[in-house]
Amino acid sequence: MIIEGNILIRQGITYGQVEIKNQKIIRVGAVKQKPDIILKEKQALSPLLYDSHVHLRDLEQTSRETIKTGTAHLASTGVIECSAMPNTKPPLDNHQTLKQYLKLINSDAEIKVNVYGLLTPNSYIEELERMQEYCNKKYKAFQAESIGSGFFTNNEKLKDRILLLPENAEIRIHCEDPDTLKKHKHKWKQSKPRTHIKARPAKAEAKGIRYITEKIMPLRPDLKYFICHVSSWKGLRVIKKAKKRYDNLYCEAAYHHLYFSKKDYKDKGVKMKCNPSIKKKQNKRMLIRGLKNGLIDCLVSDHAPHTLEDKIKNNFSGLPSYDAGVFGWLVKKCRKQSHYQHLLKAATKPEYEIREGNKAAMMILNLEGKLVKAEDQETKAGKISPYNNEVLPYIETIIK
Ligand SMILES: [Zn+2]
Repeated sequence: MIIEGNILIRQGITYGQVEIKNQKIIRVGAVKQKPDIILKEKQALSPLLYDSHVHLRDLEQTSRETIKTGTAHLASTGVIECSAMPNTKPPLDNHQTLKQYLKLINSDAEIKVNVYGLLTPNSYIEELERMQEYCNKKYKAFQAESIGSGFFTNNEKLKDRILLLPENAEIRIHCEDPDTLKKHKHKWKQSKPRTHIKARPAKAEAKGIRYITEKIMPLRPDLKYFICHVSSWKGLRVIKKAKKRYDNLYCEAAYHHLYFSKKDYKDKGVKMKCNPSIKKKQNKRMLIRGLKNGLIDCLVSDHAPHTLEDKIKNNFSGLPSYDAGVFGWLVKKCRKQSHYQHLLKAATKPEYEIREGNKAAMMILNLEGKLVKAEDQETKAGKISPYNNEVLPYIETIIK
C-alpha cells in the first residue's frame, strides 16, 4: 500500500509517499509510484505517541476506570505505548501488587503498558529489589502530598529512600517542596479555582527540583532522574542549569501545562485543576520554547480520570488526556527542522517514527482541527475533560 501526502518526520512536514508491505514501512520518500491513498491538504501522516506518565486505575478503583477502558481511551488519542504510575489503590509499592497489576495489564490492556514501582517513606531495600523485575528498575516518588497515598512529606526522608534504590535504577519525581506547599495550602478557595496557583505556586516546584539536583543527585550519580511534569519557568530554569552539570537528568512536560494557562480557569474551573497547578501564560510560553529547543525530554499527558462528582464536589486534581489533539496543536507551532526533531523525540520513540524498517503503525491527523466533544472521547471521564469545547487537531484514522 502506498500513502501519499504530508508526512510528519524529523525533517518537518514533508510531502511524499510512504510504502507499506507486510505491516512494515519499506519506503519513505519522494513521489514515485501511483498511490493507493492520497491525503487531503489538512491531513498529515503522523507517528503514534509514547506517553510515559499516565494514571490508570483498576484494582479497587474499577468504578473510575479499568486497564481496559483506560488503555482504550489512550489508544483513541493516538497512544501506542504508555507507562503507568504506581499511586493506584492499593499502591504499587511492593512486588505482589505489581505482579497482580501486570497480570491485569497482560489480559486487558489495548496498548503496550509498562509500570513504575512506588517509592514511599516505608520502602526498604529488600522489597525495592524484589520489585525491580516487575517495574524494570523504574520507580516513582511524590516529594509532597498529591493524589493517592505513599507520598513523602519531608525532603530528608525522600533523600534517605532514594539512596536505597537498586544500582542504575530510574527515579521519576513529582517535585514540589512539601514545606512550601504546607505553607500555602490555605490559599485554595473552592469558589475561585485559579487560587490553586497560589496554593501550589511555582516556587514550590523550583525549590523541590533544586533539592533533588543539589542534595540528592551528587549522592547517587548512578541513577537516572526524571523530573515529572515541570510546569513553571522557574522550575525549568533550575533544570536547565542542572542539565549543564549532569547528563543523567531528564524532564517531562505535560500537554495541559503547554496548552492551558491561568486565564482558562474562568471557563474550565476545577476541570483543569491538577498538580502541579496550571500557571500564568509566561510559564506555558517558556515550556513550549523548552520543548522546541530540546530542553524537555518527554511529553506526557498525566492522564488521571476522576468521576464528575469527585471533580466537582471534592475538587480532585487530575484530568483526562487528549494526547493527539495537543500534539497536533504543537506540530502547528513548529517552525524549524530542529523543532520537529525535538517534538518527535519527546512525544514518541524512534521505533514508532515514520521511517524505513519500522512497523506500519501511524495515524492520519487532521491538523485543521474541530470542536472537542465529551462524547467523542473513549473515556468515562470525557465529561470532565477541560479539552471539551476547544478546537484541536484530531485523528481521522489509525493505521495499525
Ligand atoms: Zn501524575
